[in-house]
Amino acid sequence: MTASAPARAAYVALGSNLGDSQRTLSRAIDALDTLPSTAVTGRSCFYRTVPWGFCDQPDFLNAAVRVHTALSPHQLLDALLAIEAAAGRVRDGARWGPRTLDLDLLHMDGITLDDRRLTLPHPRIRERAFVLVPLADIAPELILPGQGGVIELLRQVDATGCTALP
Ligand code: ATP
Ligand code: CA
Ligand code: CA
Repeated sequence: MTASAPARAAYVALGSNLGDSQRTLSRAIDALDTLPSTAVTGRSCFYRTVPWGFCDQPDFLNAAVRVHTALSPHQLLDALLAIEAAAGRVRDGARWGPRTLDLDLLHMDGITLDDRRLTLPHPRIRERAFVLVPLADIAPELILPGQGGVIELLRQVDATGCTALP
């Protein structure tokens, strides 16, 4: 990241339940760090989590990272979709079904938007322990516009299905 870039903080959720998920998540974090004008500045533990939404599938591995980036929200979304594609992600199965890699843009500091391609903050954070548990590792003080504080939201979900990897 260049020193002069007007970087803002952004938070990305990572998930995988196909293939070597630990390796896939580690490589995705490396890929985020090598994006133009972008650096990874915080990373959570990896968590083994029970599936959400579509339950008859393998457990997930989930994590969250903070980046500082000068990319626009849509540029960052495009980059996340490209990293997913490079990890073999195909969108042809059930909604919320098994995937090699899912990268969701959770929030960018100072930005709310809702258009055809992108909603910020991600609208389903408050329903998801597998997002809130890792997010609380890296940003416990974060307030998500329209949803609330991360720690407060975490108190309202059942986090018993999320287990930190040693
Ligand atoms: P969910 O969004 O409920 O976690 P999902 O991750 O399985 O579901 P995908 O198939 O990965 O859904 O994404 C579908 C589309 O969602 C993407 O192509 C993207 O345009 C759109 N989208 C909207 N807001 C966001 C966001 N904040 N982060 C990532 N994708 C988003
Ligand atoms: Ca998702
Ligand atoms: Ca997604």
